Amino acid sequence: MIFLEHDCRWCGEEKYELVIRGPDLLTDLPGEFQFVKCINCGLLRQNPYLEWDSLKQYYPDDYNSYQPQVSDIDSQLRRMDKRYGLWKRVRLISKHKPSGKWVDIGAGTGRVLQEAMRWNRWDLMGVEPVKIAADYIANKTGLFVFNGRLENFDSHNECFDIVTMWDVLEHFEDPIKNLNKIKELLKPGGLFVFSIPNMNSWDRKLFKKYWVGYDLPRHLHLYPDELLKNMLQEMGFKIVEKKCVAGSHGAFILDIAFLNKKLESKLITKFLSLGPDSIIPRAISFIPLWVIDKLKLGSNITYITTKL
Ligand SMILES: [Zn+2]
Repeated sequence: MIFLEHDCRWCGEEKYELVIRGPDLLTDLPGEFQFVKCINCGLLRQNPYLEWDSLKQYYPDDYNSYQPQVSDIDSQLRRMDKRYGLWKRVRLISKHKPSGKWVDIGAGTGRVLQEAMRWNRWDLMGVEPVKIAADYIANKTGLFVFNGRLENFDSHNECFDIVTMWDVLEHFEDPIKNLNKIKELLKPGGLFVFSIPNMNSWDRKLFKKYWVGYDLPRHLHLYPDELLKNMLQEMGFKIVEKKCVAGSHGAFILDIAFLNKKLESKLITKFLSLGPDSIIPRAISFIPLWVIDKLKLGSNITYITTKL
């Protein structure tokens, strides 16, 4: 395993304080990793972090972004549930930019793109570095997908009306470089919508180092709300709206599963064996998580911004 070190990508400060240290709770592969916080600006980074050739083994084949598109899921109930979350994301885009050229970065297997296609309103394409996932989208939808990393995406400047990035910004080793690239891609007044782990979330405070948002060693940066607001402003983006859109139940189940690696409770193990999409836990958590999301305290938060 090859570890690299980096200073704060936002302010350049070298000094930091430890936030959490722990293993990979998702795959149980060996290794100890840590999140540290820049003592100057407060940006959280994994330091040291694994360079890509070592890190990629920590992305399991069934990693969330690489699950099949909704039309390929067997259970009708699960299809409806998954589609509802995707529909909410597409509806959000529709509210702010009902037509135009839209690129989804880190498109995974294209679940959002597939839902957006149904609306028949946008000129769609994707960027996805994992070849199997990129090929899957192209075969399923016929859309153009650039198979590569965002920094190598060679497109005309200012040619997109919409850039979306669901659960991707936390995976970048150099988010500033990538945010600048997004700015180049967008037309003036263009819409940039992204979701990230919510540092203000109720489950970060409750589950502490077992919070799914840390997701060591895959998450490389985490963004406190106030810092992110300043970063976006300085880089030329205006925040229009923030909201918790989808994914709170899935995050909650993972929080419990991660905590149970320590507790080893038989009762919790039995509960978890029902599966993440089981109807009973979903029904029980629906109203509390709905309220939490309305208070913007969900595990994950979506920022709706425009390029100034
Ligand atoms: Zn800093």
